[in-house]
Amino acid sequence: MSAKVISVSNQKGGVAKTTTVVNLAWALTRLGKSVLILDMDPQANASDTMGVNPYESQFTMVNVLTDKKKIISTSWTKTRNDMIYIVPSHIKLSAAERDLYGSVNSVMALRTKLDRVALENFDFILVDCPPSLGLLTINALVASQSVIIPLEADSYYALQGIDSLESTIEDIRELNPGLAIEGILLTMYDNRTSICKAMAEEIHTYFGNDKVFKTIIRRNTAINQATLNHLTIFEHDRRAYGVYDYTNLARELLHEPIEDGGNEEADFDSDATAKATATR
Ligand code: ADP
Ligand code: MG
Repeated sequence: MSAKVISVSNQKGGVAKTTTVVNLAWALTRLGKSVLILDMDPQANASDTMGVNPYESQFTMVNVLTDKKKIISTSWTKTRNDMIYIVPSHIKLSAAERDLYGSVNSVMALRTKLDRVALENFDFILVDCPPSLGLLTINALVASQSVIIPLEADSYYALQGIDSLESTIEDIRELNPGLAIEGILLTMYDNRTSICKAMAEEIHTYFGNDKVFKTIIRRNTAINQATLNHLTIFEHDRRAYGVYDYTNLARELLHEPIEDGGNEEADFDSDATAKATATR
């Protein structure tokens, strides 16, 4: 087996990158797949949700990127899910990024550390990117086969800055020609609002239907509560829409049929009376 390496990237914060990494990882394990998470965001939110305290971890992405002898397979840590391992982030990753600018290996630092043992041990390696297009994101994309781009459907600004991300991907293809867009992922979707419907249409028109995941991640307050409790949605509330949506995303990634409709009994946002079912 050789892991598929996928970055989850968008230079905007709050679009559900980290939420997608941890919940997609969990969903994949429920379908029998093993996952390694690489936390490339100095804010360490993915590490936090996976219960790994960077300050107590022996090795983090800082070691991988700056320590000549450290490679991915000697730096990972177990999580509470037997099928998920993580190389946590650390606040010092920002300083490590600055140091990378002066190095000859600046854009290949991660790729050269992604060793055979790491690739052979997992089905997927998911990279959580920081909210910027700096060297940490560039390193993630250079090391990846594909990228998932979450876009928040409830904002008129969802597509703002997307051209910068696209041109970064274009530039990276000179070094990593195989880099594909795995899919654009609509997140924070609420079908009761006209803005979400308008943005979904605009995003489909902009990228073309084939590039956009059929799975839509609905706005679901349970996801927010899960984050506050340092849990995935699968652990926090297994009847939530988020469980259903991220399971579908995992299926779509595995080219398995996705389920239509939604869990009617699930809580949709704080409005308990809403009987909305996302239209796909
Ligand atoms: P990013 O990593 O892109 O900065 P996060 O994944 O940290 O974004 O998400 C930002 C916030 O939005 C978090 O508090 C998270 O719990 C919340 N969130 C993410 N997805 C959803 C969703 N589908 N519904 C409601 N809240 C969400
Ligand atoms: Mg994040």
